[in-house]
Amino acid sequence: MQQRKFAGSFTQQEPIPEYAIAAAVAVMRSGRLHRYNVAPGEIAEAAALEREYAGWQGARYCLATTSGGAALQIALRAVGVAAGEPVLTNAFTLAPVPGAIHAVGAIPVLVEITEDLVIDLDDLAHKAERSGARVLMLSLMRGHMPDMDRVMQVAAAHGLTVIEDCAHTMGARWRGRLSGSFGAAGCFSTQSYKHMNSGEGGFLVSEDAAIMARAIVMSGSYMLYGRHGAAPGPEAFADIRYQVPNLSARLDNLRAAILRPQLARLDDNIARWTRRHNAVEAVLRACPAIRLPARAEGAFRVGSSIQFFLPGVGAADARRFLDATAARGVELKWFGAPEPVGYTSSHHSWRYVPAQDLPRTDAILAELFDMRIPLTFSVADCRLIGEIIAEEAEALIKAAAQ
Ligand SMILES: *Cc1c(COP(=O)(O)O)cnc(C)c1O
Repeated sequence: MQQRKFAGSFTQQEPIPEYAIAAAVAVMRSGRLHRYNVAPGEIAEAAALEREYAGWQGARYCLATTSGGAALQIALRAVGVAAGEPVLTNAFTLAPVPGAIHAVGAIPVLVEITEDLVIDLDDLAHKAERSGARVLMLSLMRGHMPDMDRVMQVAAAHGLTVIEDCAHTMGARWRGRLSGSFGAAGCFSTQSYKHMNSGEGGFLVSEDAAIMARAIVMSGSYMLYGRHGAAPGPEAFADIRYQVPNLSARLDNLRAAILRPQLARLDDNIARWTRRHNAVEAVLRACPAIRLPARAEGAFRVGSSIQFFLPGVGAADARRFLDATAARGVELKWFGAPEPVGYTSSHHSWRYVPAQDLPRTDAILAELFDMRIPLTFSVADCRLIGEIIAEEAEALIKAAAQ
């Protein structure tokens, strides 16, 4: 039998829309690329973007930054994290998260995850107690939303300030409420593989005027914080403008100009991701060799990627499966690989972090596979991809039984 193959590219995003390109060209023609370089009466693209993102997110304040990682670092400093202090975070996350904690001189304390890929609240409570940490950087890795009511209860019980890493959850919700609106600050990324694409970029949102004023000055506002789009009033800056260092992490008008039209299409794109994700998921769900993480009732996830388990798979079979799917054009990531490949999400490869024992997370990651779903794939592509994955998962089981 001729095996079907998939021919699309897993790293190909959609082009920047023509009207966004036109907006970028207009910024270049003006020569005013720096966000504080405005003509009389002009609102900079970066300030307009902040206002629009705050509106979309339902946040009081919003700061645009050079990257999601920069937003995370600024958020940690803005809530007062000091050098040497422990900061809790999920053991399953991407390298910028422990990197941001390390960059502010703090020490990541890694918390186990559950088999549904969300933070383990018992381990969180235990490690909050044991470490004395005051801050939780909750990474909503790959878009999986935990029961946020319970997360916030545990945080409150242990006096934890929560910063949400929403790099994969722009548009995700818990009981109708957007991720990024639960903690003291929410951090987003607009790097090419997230939900809006400016190459690099990010947002920090908060309801707290003091946090946001510190964040704005840190981002590099000098005394020009009055030119921001969704900032607290001048009284919030009166003292701190002398105290807070400039870390130069401003977003420029060029990237803001290509993000504004994408924000207008974000809700549509979220619906398009959902259709594609559900098409892959429906095929995988019917395959007995595959387990899918369960979604808590009340969680709405944006399907820009999919994760699944091959229960009981060993390292040799995991590699065989990766090779077999790759040979049919389906690019998967395996989180159990001992050597880091591409984007690193294994705590074993972050050796600047004190080594920590995370047996449950390790066991979960050993069986976990991951796939991006770019919007350049059609729903039919997604069905085909799901079928290829399911066929190869079953072939593995059959071979093992022989
Ligand atoms: C991408 C990512 C970030 C950081 O975003 P950058 O804009 O690339 O700095 C943070 N957390 C997670 C989970 C990510 O995937």
